[in-house]
Amino acid sequence: MDFNHYFTNEEISHLQDEWVSQYPDLIQVSTIGKSHDDRPIWLWTITNRSTGTDLEKPAVWIDANIHATEITGTTAAIYIAQHLLTSYGSDDQITRQLNQAVYYIVPRINPDGAAWAMAPNPRYVRSGVRPYPWEEKDEGLFSQDINGDGKILQMRLEDSNGDWKVSSLDPRLMEKRAPHENGGTYYRLFPEGMLEDYDGYVIKMGRPLEGLDFNLNFPFQWRAEGEQYGAGPYPTSEPETHALADFISTHPNINFAITFHTYSRVILRPYSTKSDDDMNTDDLWVFKKVGEIGSKLSGYRCVSTFHDFKYHPKEVTTGAFDDWMYDHLGVFTYTIELWDLPTEAGIKDRKWIEWWREHPHEEDLQILKWIDEHGASDAYFEWQPYDHPQLGKVELGGWNSMFTWRNPPLDFVEAEVKRHYPFILSLGEMLPHLTLFNLDVRKIGEDKYHINLVVENPGFLPTYTSQQSKSRKVSRPVRVELELPEGVKLASGKHREELGHLEGRSNKLEVGASGSESPTDNRARLEWVIHAPVGSKIKIKIMSERAGTLTREIVL
Ligand SMILES: [Zn+2]
Repeated sequence: MDFNHYFTNEEISHLQDEWVSQYPDLIQVSTIGKSHDDRPIWLWTITNRSTGTDLEKPAVWIDANIHATEITGTTAAIYIAQHLLTSYGSDDQITRQLNQAVYYIVPRINPDGAAWAMAPNPRYVRSGVRPYPWEEKDEGLFSQDINGDGKILQMRLEDSNGDWKVSSLDPRLMEKRAPHENGGTYYRLFPEGMLEDYDGYVIKMGRPLEGLDFNLNFPFQWRAEGEQYGAGPYPTSEPETHALADFISTHPNINFAITFHTYSRVILRPYSTKSDDDMNTDDLWVFKKVGEIGSKLSGYRCVSTFHDFKYHPKEVTTGAFDDWMYDHLGVFTYTIELWDLPTEAGIKDRKWIEWWREHPHEEDLQILKWIDEHGASDAYFEWQPYDHPQLGKVELGGWNSMFTWRNPPLDFVEAEVKRHYPFILSLGEMLPHLTLFNLDVRKIGEDKYHINLVVENPGFLPTYTSQQSKSRKVSRPVRVELELPEGVKLASGKHREELGHLEGRSNKLEVGASGSESPTDNRARLEWVIHAPVGSKIKIKIMSERAGTLTREIVL
């Protein structure tokens, strides 16, 4: 299968049909809902169904392409699914994981936006295709392909007050005009596009007609339009975000979540809104520890959005998926920003956001040279004169950013997505799950038996996932149910017992009282005495929302 590829909605649908016919026991294809334009939002449930249903197993959540143009994430999701499916039975680790755990994969949250972005005459929107907040275009400049070449490039307009000039290093590039520089030939830069209600003088940037950003539409500290543009009329107001929130909140077995975006080559962790100092310390340690594993396996740095990925030093974004998943549900969630053109071109350790405000112009040349050597023929365009019906003499050219900045050139897609597969598998290794440490039935008298049950969680995470989930009380403690047939009576113990939560190894990250303590706090014990005739069948069911269900039958 070729992963140097961007998948259309039709290709995804065809591919999943093939998977279902090839791996009927391992993958279930369903939808979590429909998009605004009535396209299915596909969900792949990947687990060995013969060892239990998905809700009876701990889960890792993976999604992609909530932002319309970030289609690399979809290829990453497909890469992961394909490798899980084809490795089952031949790879011990994956066989074990799919027997005891489940991967939920939504390869494309936003099929409408992706369809527009991948159309022969593309349109690029942030998320949804629904006009918002107004039905009609505001005044100003709107990006579109105006010369019919199927690309939306840049547009430059000569203007003595412009803040750009032709680069001294390479005439194809534009360079920022210095504050003390006067008397040269200067330009204004715009996206290729047309103006609405142009008066012939004032060029405003038009507020996008389809102004929604789904990743501001989740319930965590959601803020209205006046405070945060694009957040929608109310939390989960859009069919896409509503479908996600609905599925996830009715699947309490999810412990980890990865949401694929582009770009920057960074693994982001909560919060977007507050400092690490204001987070639960134990959870922060887990976030960092797991993030280190991700960094080591993928080569991406892992940082807090608040500390290292704010668009403005004094402003935060709210209503994001990852913050909602962690803050409301206690799920350890990471946003992976795939691909980074400057890094690929050899610019080391750049500061993601600050770099845009200021960087040496030599780095622009370094990036263009990399594109000359590695990019496709349609990655960068020399400036060409164009007679703009509204603006007159302009030039079109520059970056075709969709397949240079926002997504890798085709030859580089597979290399970018495959580096995250080991990190995903490591998450599957850290899930809580239940095993029997001991189940002992002893005859202690005529038709009288003593049952001893010891349950363990061998996972890294506890059966409550995170301190946040515990304090929010979003996952029930481990419970045990004893099913007794007619004629069997309990002498001591109860039919239903609460075992409480079982710890994992994640609470061993702190320094204990004696420096290094390892109590068996991942283990719990229950006992019963029953009166029963020989041959009676007794069923024991141990249930954890986050760690799965374990069932055993004993014949006396
Ligand atoms: Zn994004």
